[in-house]
Amino acid sequence: VGAGAGAAGYFDLVVRGRVVGSGAPPIHAAVAISGGRIAAVGDREAGFEADEELDFGDCLVLPGVVDAHVHSGSAPGEGLEHATRAAAAGGVTTVADMPFDVGGTIASPEGLVRKAAVAEREALVDVALWAAVLPSGPVPAAELSAAGARGLALSTITVDPPRYPGVGEAQMQAAFAAAAAAGLPVAVHAEDEDLVFGGIAAERAAGRVDGLAHARSRPPESELLAVARCLRSARLTGVALHLTEITLEQSVTLAREARRGGADVTVETCPHYLLTDEDWLAEHGAAAKCNPPLRPRSDVEGLWRALAAGELCVASDHVAWPRERKSGGDVLAAAGGGPGVELMLPLMHDAVRARGLGVELLARVLAEAPARRLGLWPRKGGLRRGADADVVVLDPDAAWTVDHRRLHTPVDWSPYDGWEVRGRVVHVLARGETVCADGVVTAAPGRGQQL
Ligand SMILES: [Zn+2]
Repeated sequence: VGAGAGAAGYFDLVVRGRVVGSGAPPIHAAVAISGGRIAAVGDREAGFEADEELDFGDCLVLPGVVDAHVHSGSAPGEGLEHATRAAAAGGVTTVADMPFDVGGTIASPEGLVRKAAVAEREALVDVALWAAVLPSGPVPAAELSAAGARGLALSTITVDPPRYPGVGEAQMQAAFAAAAAAGLPVAVHAEDEDLVFGGIAAERAAGRVDGLAHARSRPPESELLAVARCLRSARLTGVALHLTEITLEQSVTLAREARRGGADVTVETCPHYLLTDEDWLAEHGAAAKCNPPLRPRSDVEGLWRALAAGELCVASDHVAWPRERKSGGDVLAAAGGGPGVELMLPLMHDAVRARGLGVELLARVLAEAPARRLGLWPRKGGLRRGADADVVVLDPDAAWTVDHRRLHTPVDWSPYDGWEVRGRVVHVLARGETVCADGVVTAAPGRGQQL
């Protein structure tokens, strides 16, 4: 048993419950915390003494979620304070924020330093920052790393220029090489621009703007082509590649083959690709639009196979578009994505359990794997001695219904309104401090740190 501050076996706080590691089923155990870090993990009867004890009985005690993919600045009206408040409520204790901000894409060391200052002022939980790769010009990876970037992010397809530009093949390779030299991972949104733009034009020309027009405009081939090109460049440059928003088991297979060939590649998907499908898109249209689109049920099942095999990270791709950007009859004109950082853990817990998979999968795909990719492991991502005491307690049997009015994102809708969920976040600690208790966020802006 590791000693915390003061006498051996005496700690600031002891948390008891069914503790979830990433490799084994939950066991009744005690997590001892001192100075904001995990000082020891022992069995339930461990003689830990502490100033404060929190006994959660049969509730699950999980590592705080590391959400590697949040867009707090893409939709006007959110920002890091709102995004990290929603995160705290949902058991997300580390947010990695994307750089495609409406106030200006974060692609320079100066821009990154400015955003880091905002994070230190506004954030309720810890924040890591991605920096963008622009379509042309030098990629200052070493300078961005020195300024605090945890990685670079780019898209192979133009989404919303100049805020969210697409990057061509040569610039992508240059970015990979620069990032590899600087020791930074690169997150890539992979869709083939030529195929997608052609698909959108064809749907428009035919006058089709319903939900399935979006699916047809971005077929599986557009993801697979872009993924294959990214993997080739990754092998050429030795970069740590992180493929984001992956919707297809075939993409995971390509990544696995590249890994066997020496590539350093990880694959990320999002809850919506696991929890909903193309029928949901057909039914809900703009509200269910995301890029790439929701896929047919057979692809969703393939993605679950990859998830169960431990080959994926899961991240929210949270973006707080207001309802007016997510409604109307023209799916092709609507914004892609939606709010999700607060619901990711409870929804994924419910789905994992419904499929009979062990909850330890959650610790792996929501905490350990993304923490490793962001270079934050072992400080973040696991309930281990010496790690930050980022702990989320979830009551696995509490039943509740999603209602956007009770969530913390400042928009008047949720993709999951009306969903009945089993499993509720009841307590969240971040670096040993309670940031949310019984659904009430208790942390103040400025307590989060830039990582
Ligand atoms: Zn995204």
